[in-house]
Amino acid sequence: MRAKKPIYVTQPYLPPLAEYMGYLEQIWSSKVLTNGGPLHQQLEDALCEYLGVDHIALFTNATIGLVTALQSLRVTGEVITTPYSFVATAHSLLWNGIRPVFVDIDPVTMNMDPARIEAAITPQTTAIMPVHCYGQPCDVEAIQRIADIYNLKVIYDAAHAFGVELNESSVLKYGDLSVLSFHATKVFNTFEGGAIVCPDAKTKLRIDQLKNFGFVDETTVVAPGINGKMSEVNAAMGLLQLKYIDGAMQRRCEIDATYRAHLQSVPGIRCVARSGASKDNFAYFPILVDAEYSSSRDDLYEKLKARGIYARRYFYPLICNFPMYRGLPSAHRENLPVANQMAQQVLCLPIYPSLQPDEQQDIIDVIKEQ
Ligand SMILES: *Cc1c(COP(=O)(O)O)cnc(C)c1O
Repeated sequence: MRAKKPIYVTQPYLPPLAEYMGYLEQIWSSKVLTNGGPLHQQLEDALCEYLGVDHIALFTNATIGLVTALQSLRVTGEVITTPYSFVATAHSLLWNGIRPVFVDIDPVTMNMDPARIEAAITPQTTAIMPVHCYGQPCDVEAIQRIADIYNLKVIYDAAHAFGVELNESSVLKYGDLSVLSFHATKVFNTFEGGAIVCPDAKTKLRIDQLKNFGFVDETTVVAPGINGKMSEVNAAMGLLQLKYIDGAMQRRCEIDATYRAHLQSVPGIRCVARSGASKDNFAYFPILVDAEYSSSRDDLYEKLKARGIYARRYFYPLICNFPMYRGLPSAHRENLPVANQMAQQVLCLPIYPSLQPDEQQDIIDVIKEQ
């Protein structure tokens, strides 16, 4: 047994506490705790600048962001999405009374396969909700071409895609809206948090109203909005985190390279290629375990766990196999062969800035043990 401290699949990046205390002092003296306070405003501006986007609306978390994004575009009926994601992607549809229609994924990028979209379109289809899975950009051009032909909205679940660029520009600019997550387990965190990247000021205004109960002024409510506001303590964490984010991503990049160098020669282990982005964020490190490996994926998962290494089977089970989805016609196994196979083979290995080289070596050694 490994007598050292447990290694989780991710650990939040924590900037120096003393610096965070400085922000808390500001909050205590302003007495503004939430409702679009000064730090909230600063973080929106700083994120627009860092990410290279024009408008951002901060949220309490990405799930409420996804729900609100759909409402702001008045999406109804059916939405085409991927089963290979975190369950919140599809839950945001159910919360709007929308029927998810699952299409299969591409075995190389693990993202929604654009070639499958057209066959899933019906007269009820109003939008597509793809996910930049593991931070790898979707085939945004192909998806937009289909959306344009059929007059569909495109809302990206960009929970994994903080800082990712495609052709030297933010991947968050594609589609009608993109939704980021700043949950503690993500590349950039505000404890809990999220944001919608909006194309123009008018869209942002509507979204800002929807996240504040639908108020447009002191006495006028125009929609059944929700409480999706980010508080000042969360915004402060974001501002502080931004100062250190480039160094944190650099460490992720090194960890990614070390895994690849050591694991590429292991029979039956395939490191998922990361090639689509001109700037990557190294958000996850998924490997695929196939029949050539000395044990099954689940045995490897258990073996690592027995040594105190908590890898995660992201994404298993598939969203379409949870009880509230499995009755849908599109949830059938025959409709989603690639996603089902990947869910059986995938294992995400620990990757986070404070992962120590000797810890990473231990992980590699366990995987190499035959
Ligand atoms: C984390 C995650 C979410 C949910 O984000 P929260 O901020 O925790 O609500 C949604 N979609 C994907 C793909 C995620 O990984």
